[in-house]
Amino acid sequence: MMSDIAYVGLGSNLASPSEQLKSALVELHQHEQICVQGCSHLYRSAPMGPKDQPDYVNAVCQLTTSLSPIELLDVLQAQELKHGRERLGEKWGPRTLDLDLLMFNELRMQSERLTLPHYGIAQREFVLVPLFEIAPDLIMQDGQKLSTWVSKCSLTGLKRLADKIDFASIAA
Ligand code: ATP
Ligand code: CA
Ligand code: CA
Ligand code: CA
Repeated sequence: MMSDIAYVGLGSNLASPSEQLKSALVELHQHEQICVQGCSHLYRSAPMGPKDQPDYVNAVCQLTTSLSPIELLDVLQAQELKHGRERLGEKWGPRTLDLDLLMFNELRMQSERLTLPHYGIAQREFVLVPLFEIAPDLIMQDGQKLSTWVSKCSLTGLKRLADKIDFASIAA
């Protein structure tokens, strides 16, 4: 049963970022145990960390899955590698594809490989704004509405792009 709901943050700032995100979404949906339910517009955002790198393209998708959280993380990390992700040791350095597991139902967990919800959601406008687009009624881990979190974050450097991933073509 694909009854668990997860939100995944997608990001890229190398090698045609928008295309990286679109193909990542298609590949996620093609997984037997994953069904992508919706995705935000694409957003352009200023980089976190080192400034000598291109702007990012970000999006957030909602999926249902029968995978466990750690199995889903395995799938996300395998997909990053398939997209040529290199880990060069520099924190928040440029990358072809970053897939962060933002939330998995209301689950809270902390292990060496996986913290849920993802620790950075509250401070990141490039996560909060696209998440709000696809899940406006979401209640966050502190019991506050997502809309309250959005209203508290700085929107500096975030720009919604015209591009929206065409779902019909993915689901087909
Ligand atoms: P940030 O985590 O601040 O967004 P990043 O995405 O650049 O930075 P990565 O190098 O992609 O960081 O991931 C570092 C480690 O984070 C991974 O090896 C992974 O095991 C761990 N991790 C912990 N919780 C999560 C999560 N919810 N989603 C994705 N990775 C996670
Ligand atoms: Ca599928
Ligand atoms: Ca990240
Ligand atoms: Ca990551």
